[in-house]
Amino acid sequence: MGFAVGRGVRWAFCLFLASGFVLILCGVGRILDRVVPKLVVTFFDVGQGDSIAVTFPNGQVALVDAPGGFGKWNGGERVVLPEMLRQGRLSLDFLVMTHPDADHAQGLAPIAEQLSIREFLYHSVFGTTEVVRKIQEAVKGKGGRATPITGRSEFQAGSARMVLSPMGHACGWCGDNDRSVIVELEYGGCRVLLTADVEMPAESEWLKRGGHTIDLLKVAHHGSKTSSAKSFLLATSPQLAVASLGWRNRYHHPHPSVVKRYQALGIPLLRTDVDGFVEVSIHREGLMECRTWHGSCGVYRCSGRSSNSLFSALRRSRNSAARSN
Ligand SMILES: [Zn+2]
Repeated sequence: MGFAVGRGVRWAFCLFLASGFVLILCGVGRILDRVVPKLVVTFFDVGQGDSIAVTFPNGQVALVDAPGGFGKWNGGERVVLPEMLRQGRLSLDFLVMTHPDADHAQGLAPIAEQLSIREFLYHSVFGTTEVVRKIQEAVKGKGGRATPITGRSEFQAGSARMVLSPMGHACGWCGDNDRSVIVELEYGGCRVLLTADVEMPAESEWLKRGGHTIDLLKVAHHGSKTSSAKSFLLATSPQLAVASLGWRNRYHHPHPSVVKRYQALGIPLLRTDVDGFVEVSIHREGLMECRTWHGSCGVYRCSGRSSNSLFSALRRSRNSAARSN
């Protein structure tokens, strides 16, 4: 009897130590997640439209677009704002409006009315639109700044860089889509390109202005057949692409020919209508770690970075986890 009780106590003690060890590991993991600098790009699942949050390694945050204007549905108000508040964010450093279409801009004013925005950035050609006026009013009412972008503009956020390129200046017949602001991000040797709703003429214009290879691409114009030119994909050679899509959207995006183009070029294509939110964490060592609502979606080494065994092991384990999801 005494032996049985003694063994039971020993087992309980071991279990206690083991669970304590696991808790410590989890805690350390969470602390490291906050302390280790990284650039995080989050593609919200907002239905039809775009909304992308960028958290820079120094803690600054930019929000690019937020949709609304579909009946009572406002993705900025219903998805993005609650998520920001859940994270305890009461202010944003940059609010970027790529162009004034409802599926990119109508959700921005409700956010600017609730959060303090340090700087609102928009293409100067859209300066007189009603949506810009409304956002300006909300931003300035809380002491923020509204800045029209007239040419390539660079912003440094710690060791990361954000470049805004307002497109369509050279295109006399371009519509609002081709006049979108393209957003580039750079960190740890990785390059991200957020292409809003640009179509093939602006894709080509961006390449002519000194475009380069990229690692993570936001698929232009929700996978419309008027964007994602083969020449653009070949020149940029992204390792991973993300399309922001409404479930069974009325525009029938993405176009099957565009999906096939990505497949034929071997570019993994994630979709917010199928995968839910997509979050890509970029580490300063040049690694991109991807996860969606469903779980891990792989680890990628940014172009220009040579492979090493640690990366290979990490990639193998994460990618096999992704396959099993
Ligand atoms: Zn759009």
